[in-house]
Amino acid sequence: FLRVDALTKSFGTNQVVKGVSFGFGKGEFISLLGPSGCGKTTILRMIAGFETPTTGTIRVAGEDITHLRPNQRKLGMVFQAYALFPNLTVGDNIGFGLKVAGMGREERRARVEEMLRLIGLPGFEKRYPYEMSGGQQQRVALARAIAPKPRLLLLDEPLSALDAKIRVSLRGEIRAIQQDLGITTVFVTHDQEEAMSISDRIVVMNAGHIEQMGSAHEIYNRPQTRFVATFVGQLN
Ligand code: ATP
Repeated sequence: FLRVDALTKSFGTNQVVKGVSFGFGKGEFISLLGPSGCGKTTILRMIAGFETPTTGTIRVAGEDITHLRPNQRKLGMVFQAYALFPNLTVGDNIGFGLKVAGMGREERRARVEEMLRLIGLPGFEKRYPYEMSGGQQQRVALARAIAPKPRLLLLDEPLSALDAKIRVSLRGEIRAIQQDLGITTVFVTHDQEEAMSISDRIVVMNAGHIEQMGSAHEIYNRPQTRFVATFVGQLN
């Protein structure tokens, strides 16, 4: 369903993504896991359309999207820091993309309500982001991303600004919602425990290339390189 082939990205003479290929099925939850600077965010930004690959292709459901504009790609995205519109209510934040897409008022209201129920914040339409906790704001950011029913959900360290306890409960909620909707999801994280606990499949990255790809079980029990063994905590 999501297929990336021979993807590279250079900034000037600095090649930060060095020929990455992977393919995943519909409905899978995939984590791009690796240390800071390994290129995982750059890959996500290329899938989203915010960066143009130097070479390589990106396909979704067989369609080559490598050179489409971000708003043509039918995907939802949640960033690390809360990127809600501060001057809009929660309801207007969630409904923003629906309005842009031309959805009528009543249908929009119903969809916003449905999304608020889904994220466990029914009745929060009229609140403003500043009245809410970080965890609640990230739930709203998730609702905004999935409200237009995108075919791909991209999550860039969406939990990293939150307290440890909220992080753990929210990742469980994200996973439950993702499975409920069956939405193919790419999750970027440097936290191996997080990736292990939430993913169907993990892509372990190091210095712009893939070290290993597999289920959490495979990565943990059968690391294929010393880097993977060290990074997932099997070796010191
Ligand atoms: P982090 O978790 O720290 O964001 P990452 O694995 O997601 O790490 P990237 O953000 O993809 O890594 O960055 C990979 C490398 O590319 C880094 O060395 C970074 O400095 C560089 N880089 C990213 N974006 C740009 C840019 N727009 N211009 C120049 N260099 C960039």
